[in-house]
Amino acid sequence: MNFNKNKLKKFSLNVLLIFALMASSIIFSACDILEKDTRLQVHFIDVDQGDSTLIISPNGRTMLIDAGDNSKGSEVISYLKRKGISKIDILIGTHPDADHIGGLDDVIEAFEIGEFYLPRKSHTTNTFESVLLAAKSKNLSIKEGYADRELDYDENIKLKILSPIKSKDYGSDNNLYSIVVKLDYNQASFLFMGDAEYKNEYDMLASDYSLKSDVVKLGHHGSHSSTSPELLNAVMPSAAIVSCGYKNKYSHPHKEVLDLLETSSIPLYRTDEQGDIIFRTDGKTITANTEPGSYTYRKYK
Ligand SMILES: [Zn+2]
Repeated sequence: MNFNKNKLKKFSLNVLLIFALMASSIIFSACDILEKDTRLQVHFIDVDQGDSTLIISPNGRTMLIDAGDNSKGSEVISYLKRKGISKIDILIGTHPDADHIGGLDDVIEAFEIGEFYLPRKSHTTNTFESVLLAAKSKNLSIKEGYADRELDYDENIKLKILSPIKSKDYGSDNNLYSIVVKLDYNQASFLFMGDAEYKNEYDMLASDYSLKSDVVKLGHHGSHSSTSPELLNAVMPSAAIVSCGYKNKYSHPHKEVLDLLETSSIPLYRTDEQGDIIFRTDGKTITANTEPGSYTYRKYK
């Protein structure tokens, strides 16, 4: 899988063109033009310390994995609306922690939702309860996300949940119930780890499903509780993502993970340093809107 840097330049030119158009006309917005892109899009939305990932298929089918903390719901809604989205075909709350499901109640209220998946793990927080109430008020049934379940997303796209194992008791740790999703589109593949930890990774490695992926969103914001050398060796990604807040109190991503990526020569994209990170692919070549190690975004924080 090649990351085509020439396409990056083209993207920048497109942005310039868009600004020129915006200056001369209010009929076209930047997003209208961008959304004519018929490639698969994966947006790692910058929600500070938390996760929110938007996926738009070439046919315009939409999927949202998590919606950041409670305070980020409106930002996620705005992001999706700027893309012209009115319906989320598949909505996934990876696990009941607030930095993942906090904004889901607002999202559920704001959009038509096709299918809604949560893991089999409840939580006693108001945040979790408000997600359940939002789903109930929309008569939206909650489907259980567990390993081996395949989701019907779009033609030519295979979407499979790899964790948690349905019958397994992981105790009280919410992270261990994280829904992990693998997406395959022709030759391009993405792995979304949620906050899954070593224990989940070893379960995934013990299964016979191929973990090889071009792009991986690392588990638990790059914490050393996730991303074992064994997992990275099986995934063999061309790029890794950490979704985390700038100077977050957990010191994510942790040094162990950064060192492992460096020794494995895997480029790392970070939402705290680069803002929204967007990948586009025709199923053969993957392009990104930014380059790993570019810190320009941070200057504006
Ligand atoms: Zn988290």
